[in-house]
Amino acid sequence: MKIGFIGLGNMGAPMAANLAKAGHTVTGFDMADVTVEGVTMAASGADAAKGQEVVITMLPNGKILRAVADEIIPAMAPGTGFIDCSTVDVDSARAVADQAAAAGLLPVDAPVSGGVGGAAGGTLTFMAGGSAEAFAKAEPLFDIMGQKAVHCGDAGAGQAAKICNNMILGATMIVTCEAFALADKLGLDRQKMFDVVSTSSGYSWSMNAYCPAPGVGPQSPADNDYQPGFAAELMLKDLRLSQQAAESADADTPLGQAAMQLYAQFVENENGLGRDFSAMLPRFEKRHRG
Ligand code: NAD
Repeated sequence: MKIGFIGLGNMGAPMAANLAKAGHTVTGFDMADVTVEGVTMAASGADAAKGQEVVITMLPNGKILRAVADEIIPAMAPGTGFIDCSTVDVDSARAVADQAAAAGLLPVDAPVSGGVGGAAGGTLTFMAGGSAEAFAKAEPLFDIMGQKAVHCGDAGAGQAAKICNNMILGATMIVTCEAFALADKLGLDRQKMFDVVSTSSGYSWSMNAYCPAPGVGPQSPADNDYQPGFAAELMLKDLRLSQQAAESADADTPLGQAAMQLYAQFVENENGLGRDFSAMLPRFEKRHRG
């Protein structure tokens, strides 16, 4: 397939490289001066999008996605697939999908889970929103870049699934860290705490697969001085998107809101920037009630 790939950062570069490695012809564009193995660089987004069967974007936010969409949609022929893998607000995802569909394109919003490791290893999970026809066109590429793709519904459904998932993740990570800090103060051994909770009703991905306590559970960023992993500021971005969506859908999400406020405090006032999101545990360790 002839593929255009716009946004070749930490995630986009390895995803594009995997498509090229699988034998597709990939033309890329990024604002920054980057090179990606197997990818021919174009001079602009429109140049990268022109004459392709599918165009993929992997960009920082909804505002940038909208600007790039304005530039590339007119360059794409009707019937072209347009897969946006960025994590953006649901409203931007829907607006861009409408604009693309009006131009005869086949848009899919397909944010990912799995991080930089998943992008490099081709093991991402894609959560996709769009028509059945658009999803079918994108699916063979999801199979190369990832290990699972779920068609969640119409335009915006992929972003909705992503932010709901990450709202759960943010809240469970915080409460798992709170519980470890409380257990410490109650004199409970961390390994015993893990042994009980990971096999009891308090278990979660945060506890069982990504344990925030160093030396306990499987290898995780806690064992590497909380180097990300998944950085706290990216968790904050996703929690803000969840609260923006909750606001526009009139949904009551008190724990999601509290999680957003805690990560904002951590990132902006407590040196959390650039640390893994599980570094909430050392934060709670140092604190006292009141
Ligand atoms: P990144 O900042 O490393 O990459 C974004 C790239 O987009 C940069 O290279 C930047 O130069 C480029 N860019 C910005 N504006 C552009 C424009 N107008 N035209 C062309 N290129 C432009 O970010 P990332 O970590 O690769 O994340 C990309 C997206 O994936 C984000 O939406 C993020 O939330 C999401 N995501 C990231 C992770 C992760 O662990 N990094 C995990 C899941 C989802």
